[in-house]
Amino acid sequence: MALGVYVHLPFCPYLCPYCDFAKWPMRASAAGRYLEALYAELERHPPAAAATLFLGGGTPNAYDAATIAALVARLRERFGAFEETSIELNPELVRAGDFDAYVRAGITRISIGVQSFDPREIAILGRKHTPHDVEQVIAWGRSAGVESISLDLMFAVPGQTLSTWRQSLQRAIGLQPDHVSTYGLTVESGTPYALWQQREPQAFFDDTREADLYAAAIEMLEDAGYEHYEISNFARPGHRCRHNENYWNNGDYLGFGVGAASFRDGQRSVHTKSLDEYVEAARSGRAIPAQSERLAGDQRAGEAIMLALRTAQGVGLAEFKERYGIDVARRYAPVVSRFTELGLLERTEDRVRLTGRGRFVANDVCGAFLEVS
Ligand code: SF4
Repeated sequence: MALGVYVHLPFCPYLCPYCDFAKWPMRASAAGRYLEALYAELERHPPAAAATLFLGGGTPNAYDAATIAALVARLRERFGAFEETSIELNPELVRAGDFDAYVRAGITRISIGVQSFDPREIAILGRKHTPHDVEQVIAWGRSAGVESISLDLMFAVPGQTLSTWRQSLQRAIGLQPDHVSTYGLTVESGTPYALWQQREPQAFFDDTREADLYAAAIEMLEDAGYEHYEISNFARPGHRCRHNENYWNNGDYLGFGVGAASFRDGQRSVHTKSLDEYVEAARSGRAIPAQSERLAGDQRAGEAIMLALRTAQGVGLAEFKERYGIDVARRYAPVVSRFTELGLLERTEDRVRLTGRGRFVANDVCGAFLEVS
């Protein structure tokens, strides 16, 4: 089974008010120390053969392109030449020559944090790029030979309407990306958005209005020839994100950096989310503080089902039996029949998957499999 490698680069030029990722404002000294820690962590990890690499953040391109290229080179020495190497990009930080360095380093896929093409919505999200920045990045990426270009879009943004969302989707489709991810805004506790929501709950979308936006995304992207291959992800043929497919397939992955998660042989661990703790431990060669748990039995099977149901192909019954020794149709019979009767799950000869309607309440349906014990 394929192994994925994730590297977390946590610095951002500014902090967005809705974000609860592990991230810190970009400071050259902190970013330099972090990189030393990351290299130290990598040195200590035994070499392995991995299929995909994903540089996420934070804002990976808060580091300059030469630094990113050197990091990818080190990762390739450790884990082999990846079949897919992705980097998340903040569009306004990309410079004209960056892609030459990226492509030479082996980066094949870029994921651009667009969120919206509506300048007012971009401002509400606290982002600083312009729609023109996005167009420019796509043009540079294409001419440098990046194999796959993905755009991240966000719906249920305060002030957004069905009409502005459709315009953003139209603008995205017009740029002919290979892949589009659409995420509904979630208000996370402890963020400035959570305070805003407390003060002004009516500024935020309820489930019904949010579902209308999601439905528009599915309709427009499918009409434009994108396969809706996972709840939040759409791809042209041959452009699915293989790194993320490995997550949904419950495959193994290694995470490097602060807050990064790993999953290997049923063991899940998550590094400390404290930047200082991570940097000090990694630089001094101590074990990085982490929380670990071993997933076994029903918990492991329930998680695997939950992940697989996110995908268009759903749960393959024979494959599941072979991997986990569990007959899903029998073990989860009450859940499967309840949601099948409600028209949210579809049971065929060889698989169980979400229906079109089921995709709108995926969390509820998937969560029910975890409750079975
Ligand atoms: S750029 Fe991304 S990671 Fe950084 S604060 Fe904004 S949303 Fe969070």
